[in-house]
Amino acid sequence: MARYIGPVCRLCRREGVKLFLKGERCHGEKCAIEKRNFVPGQHGKDRKAKISGYGMQLREKQKVRRIYGILETQFRNAFEKASAMKGITGENLLGMLERRLDNVIYRMGFGTSHAQARQVVRHGHIQVNGRKLDIPSALVKPGDVIEVREASKKNPTILAARDATAHAPAPNWIDVDRKALKGSVTGMPKREELVQIQVNEQLIVELYSK
Ligand code: SF4
Repeated sequence: MARYIGPVCRLCRREGVKLFLKGERCHGEKCAIEKRNFVPGQHGKDRKAKISGYGMQLREKQKVRRIYGILETQFRNAFEKASAMKGITGENLLGMLERRLDNVIYRMGFGTSHAQARQVVRHGHIQVNGRKLDIPSALVKPGDVIEVREASKKNPTILAARDATAHAPAPNWIDVDRKALKGSVTGMPKREELVQIQVNEQLIVELYSK
């Protein structure tokens, strides 16, 4: 599956908020939002564009898409699935994105960013319920046991990520044993636990319902 490979700090500057796309750098003074919090581009500093209703909906969609590091088609497909489910579409959408395997690895602290967690999955370091799973978009469910595979337990990238994220607690719906590089899904994520950054998912629903 394709992925965005351009400069990521630019994405945060475009959205005007920290999206935490670069691991530890996001918590330091080198963060581009700390240094240059204006829209990227030649006139970014001077331009104060008025934002329309459509613009707000678009920006919210882009923000969420960028947080989870997925491209438009995959995001749109996730939305279609979310709207076919029972319940509130916006919450369903966020819940599905949150249960992606790459996101769960990030939340467990085995990657310092979504991009790194995705790579950990893609490179075959993870197993779910005892079987190797290298599909970042695979959805986990309550009862699943997720762990770093035996052969990868000394992988320096994963160990460094675990140490670097020791301060960040896992969400309530994931039970993690960081020392054993293992965890399990104990329930479905609740709305208040979804996404660390404030988002208004209703705007995304409005955008796609036009
Ligand atoms: Fe965004 Fe992190 Fe870059 Fe800051 S350092 S602009 S939070 S990706």
